[in-house]
Amino acid sequence: MTTAYITHPSTEQHKISENHPECPERIWAIHDALIGSRLMDLLLPITAAPAQRAQLELAHGKDYVDFIFAAQPTADQPVQIDPDTAMNTHTLEAALHAAGAVALAVDKVMAGEINNAFCAVRPPGHHAERNRGMGFCIFNSIAVGAYQALEKHQLSRVAIVDFDVHHGNGSEDIFQDEARVLFCSSYQHPFYPYSGGANVENRRLNIPLTSGTASQQFREAYEQHCFPTLEAFKPELILISAGFDAHTADPLASLCLDEADFAWVTAQLMQIAAKNADGKIVSSLEGGYELGALGRSAAAHVKELLGAAAKPSE
Ligand SMILES: [Zn+2]
Repeated sequence: MTTAYITHPSTEQHKISENHPECPERIWAIHDALIGSRLMDLLLPITAAPAQRAQLELAHGKDYVDFIFAAQPTADQPVQIDPDTAMNTHTLEAALHAAGAVALAVDKVMAGEINNAFCAVRPPGHHAERNRGMGFCIFNSIAVGAYQALEKHQLSRVAIVDFDVHHGNGSEDIFQDEARVLFCSSYQHPFYPYSGGANVENRRLNIPLTSGTASQQFREAYEQHCFPTLEAFKPELILISAGFDAHTADPLASLCLDEADFAWVTAQLMQIAAKNADGKIVSSLEGGYELGALGRSAAAHVKELLGAAAKPSE
């Protein structure tokens, strides 16, 4: 079992503003937690390559990609993309490598070089719509990865599971007319970004969760809705929008999950992937803003991705 840990130095240089919760320290927290838990030694480290324009333009409109390339500031004066999202001089490079990390992970999983991967990248991506960046997101990295699987590797059934506390409006928007992608998102509702369309069989499963939802209700929702839908879809590849801001300690939201819940949902997805997709999973970081909880949650997630490699005594 080989699990890759894919990142890039630029991911630690993109910054929205001083004291912004979507900060470089998030990557350090994950890195430190993986070292502290001795999981890092078990991972295959890979440096991300930048996404190419052609890859971006499968998920995003050409005009939007042009806009982001043109918006890149040249001096150290941030450029505001939306009220929550800004670019500094490193943002374009970081966003290109975030999307490129997921595409590279898909290539390596499809080639059988690795079993699965965790991409420790930022900016996050799942709020980025086809023609609009928002909610700390510039390019939709998980969508770029999905298109890599559909177009380069000719898959016909790719599932995206998004357990970030916020609805993945960007992924829903990008794949609204794409029959080859099942998008499944659980999220606090009503809450930012106040999106989430009606469910569509084999295409879209939205699972709204009320404020205060804790472990048991979360797990029941996945057992009743997400897992049966995934099993019926029979994905050839599972992509995970891995946001850890549904953690009870997170300052931005009000769900009450903990590390064990992220481990549980990962283990369940591993089983479904083993049965349908020869174990192929690519996970990419989305939210998670309480640094300690983020580190522990990401480590719990990665430990499950490692499977037996991280549990030699079991
Ligand atoms: Zn989030």
